[in-house]
Amino acid sequence: MKLRGIELRRVSMPLVSPFRTSFGTQTERDILLLKAVTDDAEGWGECVALADPLYSAEYVESQADVLRRHLLPKLASPEGRAAIARSGAVAVAGLLHPFKGHRMAKAAMEMAILDAELRALGRSFARELGAVADRVPSGVSVGIHDSVPELLSVVGGYLDEGYVRIKLKIEPGWDVVPVAAVRERFGGDVLLQVDANTAYTLRDARHLAKLDEFDLLLIEQPLEEEDILGHAELAKQMATPICLDESIVSAQTAAAAITLGACQIINIKPGRVGGYLEARKIHDLAVATRVPVWCGGMLETGIGRAANLALAALPGFTLPGDVSASGRFYRTDVTEPIVMDDGHIAVPTGPGLGVTPIPELLDRFTTATEWIDF
Ligand SMILES: [Mg+2]
Repeated sequence: MKLRGIELRRVSMPLVSPFRTSFGTQTERDILLLKAVTDDAEGWGECVALADPLYSAEYVESQADVLRRHLLPKLASPEGRAAIARSGAVAVAGLLHPFKGHRMAKAAMEMAILDAELRALGRSFARELGAVADRVPSGVSVGIHDSVPELLSVVGGYLDEGYVRIKLKIEPGWDVVPVAAVRERFGGDVLLQVDANTAYTLRDARHLAKLDEFDLLLIEQPLEEEDILGHAELAKQMATPICLDESIVSAQTAAAAITLGACQIINIKPGRVGGYLEARKIHDLAVATRVPVWCGGMLETGIGRAANLALAALPGFTLPGDVSASGRFYRTDVTEPIVMDDGHIAVPTGPGLGVTPIPELLDRFTTATEWIDF
């Protein structure tokens, strides 16, 4: 495969409603898309970094910068071009490994090249990754709201739409009361879990244990991302299973967290771990150690959403993920909208991602483009 160059494209997409987590409120999504152009096909990658370094150290401007200064020059070097010509997308992680961190940029780069490669071969992401399902159950992530009645109205709306699992974002001051209210209103059969996005410390253990009575599927990332031992200790002090998100940045950190008893469940986000191929490694490790996994979300466009559907169709993804319909976040997507039917979303089967940006829609949301010639 011969890479001709990469297009960096920034899009700005308004959200259907503000999305508030313990680290901030988003009203629009500033996204970096990559288009890999080869002799045979074009492939798309989506960088999941947010506008500010609040979820992780990465932010969108930093990912564009590291791509321009370091990652793309490496891929365009004689060594990089030879490795990609020989091995395709599987060569990307090794080539970029000397550069520390910046996994979201690396993931987007690998995704774009993998998409181009698979489109040229007529093979789907799902088949390539090892998917076994043709549709996946769809959960929804519900932000922090100003009042419990408002939250109940929003959750009721999502349940009416058919979402099979509800995840409530929590933070100190917005945890036990809203969880209790959702359980009371919608009953014990609703699959329910919470996500703290690192908002607590181990000193909150007794308070967090009050969530145990609500039969939650899991509590996600209650403590700081580097506090692996804290999560292991918290796991001894509460019955609700601990799930890690921010802490798991590679298969290596996943293995350590599992071994130390810091998590009973893992939320896999390909952008956070450096790509879909590393995400598959974490999946394989989790299957081998009997740790259930599910696929998280980063408010992706249809491009990233399609790839996440392929990943979520792997056999170890035994819990419903955060891959919801496009309409959860965007009135208009840059691809054909990803839609939910009976609480499930179909896994794309076409070549590569199986979805392609629609030029008019892409242009409508584009704020800048830049071509880097190889
Ligand atoms: Mg999370």
